[in-house]
Amino acid sequence: MSTTKTSPRLLLSIAVGDAYGAGFEFESPEVVARENDGRHYRKRAGFTPGHYTDDTQMTLAIWEAVRLGEPFTPRYLADRFVFVYHRDPRPGYARGFEGILKSCKNGSELLEKLNPTSDRNGAAMRSVPLGLLPSITKVKAYAKTQAAITHNTPGGIASSQAVGLMAHFGLKRLGKLSELAAFLEKHVPGTPWSEPWHGEVPLHGLSTARAALTALLACRTQSELLRTAVAFTGDTDSVAAIALGCSACFPEYKQDLPRVLIQGLENGPYGRDYLTTV
Ligand SMILES: [Mg+2]
Repeated sequence: MSTTKTSPRLLLSIAVGDAYGAGFEFESPEVVARENDGRHYRKRAGFTPGHYTDDTQMTLAIWEAVRLGEPFTPRYLADRFVFVYHRDPRPGYARGFEGILKSCKNGSELLEKLNPTSDRNGAAMRSVPLGLLPSITKVKAYAKTQAAITHNTPGGIASSQAVGLMAHFGLKRLGKLSELAAFLEKHVPGTPWSEPWHGEVPLHGLSTARAALTALLACRTQSELLRTAVAFTGDTDSVAAIALGCSACFPEYKQDLPRVLIQGLENGPYGRDYLTTV
């Protein structure tokens, strides 16, 4: 499959956003305002500072599927979801979904057990690598296929298409960053992409994509973007993962993530080195 040349910082940016945001997920606005300095991984119960969560792991499943060029079928993608979880179990998954993943040996079992009626943000959060695909039509089609496995709802699918297209727009240089909202309004209609998101970000796909877009449009450096994405409060790891991943696709963005965050990112078998070389 022909794919666009990628930034080696794309997955790394997603992982840093995810790991940083994981320290603030659904914390109080007071805690976020006080500690969101963009310079340290905050400790939170159940999570190891500097370790990424389900957002990056499922992004890796999609990334590997896109890069390997296998038939992009529900069965194959479900296999990847099961495979990446079992090779490297980690926290952050919704409890019900994690239970199902744990109990499955392959994608067929996963497809049998899932009831994909959610419009939450699980499909959107793993969609940045879809931007690598060669055309808008392919991004939208593949986003629909992958979203439908877990989130077979209009909102779940549209949220995945929006995130994939945000990355695609940047990687393919389809316009200026400032034109991105208008592009989404054309290709993923029904959501007010030009209206800035305000306030806590719920576990809702289209809201998460909108918040990530708002942050992406408001900044031009990754360090500023990281703080801006988390400052919304709510589902901070998903918003930061998507926003940071998309920022790595745009020439307008200065890739200036603090060394302390890059060096502090986990570096096990699927950590920093893996993310910059696959
Ligand atoms: Mg997460």
